[in-house]
Amino acid sequence: MRILVTGGAGFVGSHLIDRLMEQGNEVLCLDNFYTGTKANIQKWFNNPYFELIRHDITEPIRLEVDQIYHLACPASPIHYQFNPVKTTKVNVMGTLNMLGLAKRVKARFLLASTSEVYGDPDVHPQPEEYRGNVNCIGLRSCYDEGKRVAETLAFDYYREHKLEIRVARIFNTYGPRMLENDGRVVSNFIAQALRGIPLTVYGDGSQTRSFCYVSDLVEGLMRLMNNDYVGPVNLGNPGEYTILELAKTIQEMVNPEAELVYKPLPEDDPKQRQPDITKAKQYLDWQPTIPLRDGLRMTIEDFRQRICH
Ligand code: NAD
Ligand code: UDP
Ligand code: UDP
Repeated sequence: MRILVTGGAGFVGSHLIDRLMEQGNEVLCLDNFYTGTKANIQKWFNNPYFELIRHDITEPIRLEVDQIYHLACPASPIHYQFNPVKTTKVNVMGTLNMLGLAKRVKARFLLASTSEVYGDPDVHPQPEEYRGNVNCIGLRSCYDEGKRVAETLAFDYYREHKLEIRVARIFNTYGPRMLENDGRVVSNFIAQALRGIPLTVYGDGSQTRSFCYVSDLVEGLMRLMNNDYVGPVNLGNPGEYTILELAKTIQEMVNPEAELVYKPLPEDDPKQRQPDITKAKQYLDWQPTIPLRDGLRMTIEDFRQRICH
């Protein structure tokens, strides 16, 4: 099969490409390298089944493919808030272009949506039916509302043009290849602990998140793509931790000497988040398999190689 991965040079995309290549597919990686790196996909450069295309998806492009995993979009708050108008454009115009492409070549299209469509949720854990509590004019809106429109576009192409779509709502995912400076909590804490500087806990650390290891997520995305269920379907690990618990776990695993410092909580920071994965279990026979400490160990090892060498 010939498969397009937009955002393929990024964290999740590059792990997905590894699996697709190992399965013997022909893979087209499309990326503008905003937050992705060539190093993430370098090992495939000499493989004739791999092709790298530098392109910004807010501009149209014509390609011939059978499936599209649409992941291109900065995912961490510091990157998506750096140029928020561009973030909305990527989600709206970029997704529209990729849907147009899918329609023209009759490719199956999987959208990497997000738990952020639930905003600061007042239903816990979040099932797919929950419609969310999103601020449409806040600092996170370019991403949250952008992804909500992306879902709307996908479902309208499905209804109007009979396009085959799949929609995954991805919850916080971590693992090797996260950028050290991307500002997300797992990468921040690990990099800080390795450098022996204080771990920055925002607010009092009582807010919760549920962390999924990247290989589990990739398995879920591939099952969704190759299944009949359209979604939206939550993909995440239901194990829920406070940010303070995460800080203490990483402190203990990496550097018990590292201190914790408290910083102000960012605007609109969701207080709690945990996926209800009933649908993923039922329709995809999927659930995460990697416990937090095991996933952290592999992630810490990767960061150690990059930071300490
Ligand atoms: P990432 O930032 O590592 O990867 C995004 C990739 O998209 C990068 O390689 C970047 O260069 C590329 N990109 C950005 N704008 C582009 C553009 N205009 N044209 C072409 N390429 C562009 O992020 P990630 O963590 O790998 O996330 C991948 C997808 O999964 C994103 O759509 C994100 O919203 C979604 N997601 C991720 C998480 C998570 O915890 N990692 C959670 C929910 C949803
Ligand atoms: N598009 C693209 N590549 C393609 C086909 C379409 O980038 O192979 C873009 C196209 O330029 C348009 C968008 O996708 O901006 C939506 O295309 P569609 O055909 O659905 O709508 P229309 O062109 O009629 O607006
Ligand atoms: N966070 C933190 N310290 C950091 C980075 C993040 O305490 O150095 C908190 C952040 O306020 C949020 C949680 O960790 O409550 C997860 O943040 P992240 O940016 O990783 O993901 P998101 O908020 O998008 O779920």
